[in-house]
Amino acid sequence: MTVNLLDYDLEGLADFCERHGEKRFRATQLFRWIHQKGATDFDQMSDLARSLREKLKVAARIEGLQVISQHESNDGTVKWLFAVGAGNAVEAVFIPEEDRGTLCISSQAGCAVGCRFCSTGHQGFSRNLTSGEITAQLWFAEHFLRKHLARDERIISNVVMMGMGEPLQNYGALIPALRTILDDHAYGLSRRRVTVSTSGVVPMIDRLGQDCPVALAVSLHAPTDELRTNLVPLNRKYPIAELLGACNRYLVHAPRDFITFEYCMLDGVNDQLEQARELVALVQRYRQGQGIWCKFNLIPFNPFPESGLLCSPPEQIAAFGKILSDAGIVTTVRKTRGDDIDAACGQLAGDVRDRTGVSRRIARQRVVMLQPDKASAVTVKEI
Ligand code: SAH
Ligand code: SF4
Repeated sequence: MTVNLLDYDLEGLADFCERHGEKRFRATQLFRWIHQKGATDFDQMSDLARSLREKLKVAARIEGLQVISQHESNDGTVKWLFAVGAGNAVEAVFIPEEDRGTLCISSQAGCAVGCRFCSTGHQGFSRNLTSGEITAQLWFAEHFLRKHLARDERIISNVVMMGMGEPLQNYGALIPALRTILDDHAYGLSRRRVTVSTSGVVPMIDRLGQDCPVALAVSLHAPTDELRTNLVPLNRKYPIAELLGACNRYLVHAPRDFITFEYCMLDGVNDQLEQARELVALVQRYRQGQGIWCKFNLIPFNPFPESGLLCSPPEQIAAFGKILSDAGIVTTVRKTRGDDIDAACGQLAGDVRDRTGVSRRIARQRVVMLQPDKASAVTVKEI
């Protein structure tokens, strides 16, 4: 069985070269071909010795994900659905803005945390993605978009792990993928522009700070343990005090001097003005020195029937946000993007919510295998 080179960060690729009797520095050339040029064919790699190329053909492959569908929204947002075997699918979403291009990627098929307001959570846990499957979402999107938009420069400047799954419950695969995303010989994104979003796996927040500090977003969603446990069951294991303690420790290593708290606005559940005041009191207890160490991002809830929940009215979101900002906490309300293609937050599971359903649907469909360097030759549409 050949190994998929997308699974390796540069260090892993150097180990691979060494195991095959090659100098470690060869890995850099190989890494650049894969990630900077989007190559899939070893014969393309003209500056590698023929003997190495022959070895690679026997021992390795560069294999992306199967693209099930691609939707492009009126606002330029693009959503891909990738098959990851056994009827499972994950999604990635590209969100273009004036000064940046953000890719939202998935870390697991399904999720074991089971938050009440999240359709991925309702779907249950299927499996962890491999490092290669996490990296492949960026590898594919970056090279596909370069072809699609006929631009020879970097398109994706920011990556957020806010798709399906809890990244800190797939730590072993997450770290090599993050290292590749950050590596100057691959995508070279700045640590400040790569965000891991977590529902609060406290020990892994500490490890991330040690191993690979990037920007951190924490899904808070409630000012009290009672309510948070009801919304995010993981809170029973890692209650708010422990979570905020971990956030404080993370700031010592973090590339930014604040943590972003995500707060999904649920009508009549966590959106009362009294709850905003409780949040202010809560974070002020944990504030380090004078500096502001957190920001709030209020996310309008994207409803789905099984949740039995509704989104807070816009006036309520505004009034809630005003209490936070009046207390000196930078607060933003997330714009909803890609609404017309179900690419907004928490809708990522969309059609695949019913796993039995999706197995049948995928089986019936023709699945297009897309390699980014060949993307322009393939017409991609929903199939
Ligand atoms: N598991 C991680 C990252 C993926 S979820 C986490 O929970 O942080 C990314 C963000 O989308 C989280 O803040 C989550 O709370 C939010 N989200 C999930 N479902 C949502 C929905 N239906 N509407 C709005 N936001 C949602
Ligand atoms: Fe998992 Fe995040 Fe969804 Fe909660 S919000 S179920 S942690 S993906």
